Amino acid sequence: MANIGIDLGTTNSLVAVVMSGKARCLLDETASPLLPSAVRYDDGSVVVGRDARDQAAAHPARTFTSVKRFMGRAPADCVADAALFRYTMDESEERFVRFAVPGRAPVTPVEVSAEVLKVLRARAIECLFGEPGGAVITVPAYFDDAQRQATKDAARIAGLEVLRLLNEPTAAAIAYGLDKREHGVFAVYDLGGGTFDVSILELNDGIFQVLATAGDTHLGGDDFDRALGEHVLTKAGLDRRDDADHRELLLAVEAAKRRLSDAEEATVTVAGATVTVTRADFDALIRPTVERTGAACRQALSDAKLTADKIDAIVLVGGSTRVPLVRTYVGALFGRAPYTDLDPDQVVALGAAMQADILTGSSQLSDDLLLLDVIPLSLGLEVMGGVVEKFIPRCSTIPFSASQSFTTHVDNQTALDLHIVQGDRELARDNRSLGRFTLRGLPLLPAGIPRIRVEFLVDADGILTVSAKEEHTGIESRIEVKPSYGLSDDEIERMLEDSIDNAETDVDVRLLIEARVEADGILTAVQKALGVDGGLLVPGEKEVIDAVVNALTAALPNDDRKRIADLAHKLDEVTAPFAQRRIERDLTLALSGRDAGEVGKQLGLKDSVARGTLDHTPGGKH
Ligand code: AMP
Repeated sequence: MANIGIDLGTTNSLVAVVMSGKARCLLDETASPLLPSAVRYDDGSVVVGRDARDQAAAHPARTFTSVKRFMGRAPADCVADAALFRYTMDESEERFVRFAVPGRAPVTPVEVSAEVLKVLRARAIECLFGEPGGAVITVPAYFDDAQRQATKDAARIAGLEVLRLLNEPTAAAIAYGLDKREHGVFAVYDLGGGTFDVSILELNDGIFQVLATAGDTHLGGDDFDRALGEHVLTKAGLDRRDDADHRELLLAVEAAKRRLSDAEEATVTVAGATVTVTRADFDALIRPTVERTGAACRQALSDAKLTADKIDAIVLVGGSTRVPLVRTYVGALFGRAPYTDLDPDQVVALGAAMQADILTGSSQLSDDLLLLDVIPLSLGLEVMGGVVEKFIPRCSTIPFSASQSFTTHVDNQTALDLHIVQGDRELARDNRSLGRFTLRGLPLLPAGIPRIRVEFLVDADGILTVSAKEEHTGIESRIEVKPSYGLSDDEIERMLEDSIDNAETDVDVRLLIEARVEADGILTAVQKALGVDGGLLVPGEKEVIDAVVNALTAALPNDDRKRIADLAHKLDEVTAPFAQRRIERDLTLALSGRDAGEVGKQLGLKDSVARGTLDHTPGGKH
């Protein structure tokens, strides 16, 4: 059973396999490797591919293209995209995108993608004379957890076993055999029909790492078509036509654009008029768009803290990199000619097939290729006061795990809510909520005694699992974070900008909240102790403590962090002898043979079923 590699693309999808040591894309009955990622839902049947794409204009409400843009995203995040594609969003669903289909139940982008994957799987079964083993499926490097999970779900629905999700730029680098080198820094420039991205990869001892990615999800060959279309209309002396004519014009200019990749001039006939366009005309028309890709390349280089001369090879991906101006522009930008030997439409699928082959263990290509990707935004947990404790910093390579110890904040707390967030702001409310779960069944213990170990693990596919374990009792709870929506690349960028802009205020707010949480904890503990153990006070002590308690209570609502911290410290100081007397008394009780719960009760703690947020155990943070 051979493993397969799948490029699940925005415009086209492909499936490839390694046969006799060589990766090849599997072809359809017309000998084309490309399956247009277009799906039409008819009454009772589903049409996928070229037919669905070509007939889209006749069935706009039931044909779905470019659904990759909606994978794993919340409706609120992609209203603009949906309007662009004229889809009707199912507004009764707020958590994930669903499109209305006339006469049928609404469909999700995951289900639409599954239809595309089913056709690729069928193609593989036909070509391989049997069910494929597992599949390596490629995703953009900037895909977040939710988008990756959505891709895996689509594969599962299509009956495919996902061996691994692989970043598209990494797949392209593997296709060119760049993984055979000992070391190198590579740029992967991917210009498709409607999207552009560039990634900087570093290879060290067989390990790939994505150093940076940049791009624009609304830039590509379609922009070339529009520019050429406007030019042809002007030259023919025509106005902007109605929709149907406009579509026809776009088809004609797209064909002319392709011819201009090989020829010096091409003609376009529209409404009876024939316009000749030279390569030089075309280059001038598309130069502004091409230059926008250059800005993203410079951004990626600067994020990777590299200059263009440090790049050892440039790999081109996507149909629009066939345009000669794009090739010369990229060559000039990086100061060396890009790799163009492989078909830019197939390169990602070929790399995925090579990786799939490596994972069978029978590889003739490479033995120990390890692939590492980066986490786009930090992952963390909301702790006391709504601040974020970061577990995995942004740009960590995956797989990655981190753990920290926490304790309870309330006596006899039996359950803990854990709130997982993604983002780089200091406060949980400013980041994106990824999921929540509850650790139940904590033993009845005074606050501060339970030791709860929380672990974040991001696997090689970028899927996050968070687990929490109470170490005295061993009770454990975990979730695979399968968020109902994720972050778009635009959103990731905006959140990063916000976190930089707000860094100073965020830190101030965080410190104030932390001071308040700590002071509040001390106040509660002191007041409770005074209530149950007032008898242990010595004459004059209560007046001193009360004065500090009152001052601190008055200071808490104000924003004077230093005053809160000073008074909390003072309260600690003036209650120290009293606390000492209580500990001595508790020890005597404990030594007389009662367990901690009973000691708690003796101390007057109520059996509350409190749900609290987490607090660090003293010295328990690693
Ligand atoms: P992709 O999204 O990677 O499938 O790329 C599709 C884009 O590549 C479309 O805008 C096509 O018009 C464009 N394209 C495909 N072949 C050529 C070619 N020979 N010359 C110029 N553009 C092309």
